[in-house]
Amino acid sequence: AKAHGRGRYCYFEPGMDVLPQERRRLELDLRTALAANQFELYYQPIVDIERDLVCGFEALIRWHSPQRGLVPPADFIPLAEEIGLIVDIGAWVLHSACREAAAWPEHIKVAVNVSVAQFRGFGLVDTVRSALAASGLAPTRLEIEITESIMINDSAHTCAVLHQLKALGLSISMDDFGTGYSSLGYLRSFPFDKIKIDRSFIEGLGEAADCNAIVQAVMGICDSLGIIATAEGVENQEQIAQLKSRNCHQAQGYLYSKPRPSSEVNCIIDRIDLQ
Ligand code: C2E
Ligand code: CA
Ligand code: CA
Ligand code: CA
Repeated sequence: AKAHGRGRYCYFEPGMDVLPQERRRLELDLRTALAANQFELYYQPIVDIERDLVCGFEALIRWHSPQRGLVPPADFIPLAEEIGLIVDIGAWVLHSACREAAAWPEHIKVAVNVSVAQFRGFGLVDTVRSALAASGLAPTRLEIEITESIMINDSAHTCAVLHQLKALGLSISMDDFGTGYSSLGYLRSFPFDKIKIDRSFIEGLGEAADCNAIVQAVMGICDSLGIIATAEGVENQEQIAQLKSRNCHQAQGYLYSKPRPSSEVNCIIDRIDLQ
C-alpha cells in the first residue's frame, strides 16, 4: 500500500488486489454514488501573497457515503480512475465547480483537478466546453490542474488536448510539481500557466536547506518562463515569509483555510481580504 497524506493508505493501486472483497464493495457503492447525489465539492482559497487577497479556490471532491461517512478523495479517486468511472465523476466535478464559481465575485477563479485518465480521447474538451456554456462562467476564470504524470505517455495526444483546452480560454496548472516526471523538457513543449509546488517542498522551507534550494530553483524557472508559482500546503507564517522573500506569487494551505463547503466561500474571502 502506498502512503498518502494524513497517514492514510490507499489499497487500490492499479494491479494491486489487497482486499478483493472490500474493493468490490467499494466499487459497487462508488458506482451508485453519482446518481444518488453523494458527492460534494469543498473549496480551499488560493491567496495572492503579494497583496494578501484571495484570487481563487481549488475544488476538492468529497464523498458522503451512507455506509462509510465522509470519504476523502485519496480513498476513492484511484479506484475511480482504474475502473473508468473518473470520466463521469470528472464531468460532474467540472459542471458543479463552474456552476458554483459563476456565483462568486468576478475576480475569483476556480481550479479543478483533472486526472490523466480523463485525457483519453477528446471527450474532456467537450465536457469543459459544455460546463462553461451551461454555467456562463467566463473561461478565463477556470484553471485545470494536472499532474506531471500526464507527460509520460502519448504526449502528442496530450499536447493536442491541452492546446484545445487552452483554445477555450482557460489556463492550465502543473499540480504537485517536483514529485513526478523528472524531465523538465515538458515545460518547454507545453506552455503551462502555473506551477503548484508540492507540499513536501514547502514543509521544510526555512529549516531544510534542500527545500530552500528547490523552491529557489522552481522560482527561477517560473520567472524565466513567465509562469505563476503557487506554494501548496502552507501551514505557518514563517513559510509565507520565506515564500515572499523568493517572490513566490500565490499560496494555499491550512494557514488560510481548510477546504470548506461552497456556502462558506464568501466568508473566507472576507476574512482573508480584510485581515
Ligand atoms: P491535491 O490536488 O494536491 O489537493 C491538495 C490536497 O492537500 C487536498 O487534499 C487538501 O485538503 C490538502 N491540503 C491543503 N492544504 C494543506 C495543508 O496546509 N496541509 C496539509 N497537510 N494538507 C493540505 P484532499 O482534498 O484530500 O485531496 C487529495 C487529492 O485528491 C488532491 O490532491 C487531488 O489529487 C485529488 N482530488 C481531489 N478532488 C479531486 C477531483 O475533483 N478530481 C480528481 N481527479 N482528483 C481530485
Ligand atoms: Ca490540485
Ligand atoms: Ca497538489
Ligand atoms: Ca488581506
